Amino acid sequence: MNEVDNVTAAPGARECDGCTLCCKVLDIGSEGVVAPPGSWCHHCDKTGGGCQIYAQRPEECRQFACFWVQRDDVPESLKPSKCRVVIGWAEEMFQLYVDPGRPEAWQQAQVRGWIEAMTRQGAPIAVSINGKVIWANDQARSVAANRQV
Ligand code: SF4
Ligand code: SF4
Repeated sequence: MNEVDNVTAAPGARECDGCTLCCKVLDIGSEGVVAPPGSWCHHCDKTGGGCQIYAQRPEECRQFACFWVQRDDVPESLKPSKCRVVIGWAEEMFQLYVDPGRPEAWQQAQVRGWIEAMTRQGAPIAVSINGKVIWANDQARSVAANRQV
């Protein structure tokens, strides 16, 4: 794992290996870095160079590692740079952040298959594009409702 390949700090079972999609789909807004969800962070070299301020990147970038990079039992086809969906965890549920350049990406068979398998296991899952939730399973709606009570 090196600074070019790894735009996040949290060590995982895998390496980012050229993927930078979380630098586009996540909402980063701290320590002088403003990257609204769906817009590339201007510190990201999308040609493969990764984070250009790696040593000074914000804490939220240091903390983030997607589910694919953390777990080598997640199918290779779900690598974010391939499927254009980043699987994260926030607000007590899986969050699928979809590349707005490929808004249909979460409907691909491998992504839908993962959603369906995890839903059968009872996992709460929400799907968002540009920071807006476009779909959530019953478990996620229940988690959200309980949070509002
Ligand atoms: S989305 Fe995952 S694999 Fe891609 S750069 Fe971010 S942490 Fe690495
Ligand atoms: S500061 Fe670096 S790690 Fe954080 S979003 Fe921007 S390019 Fe990615």
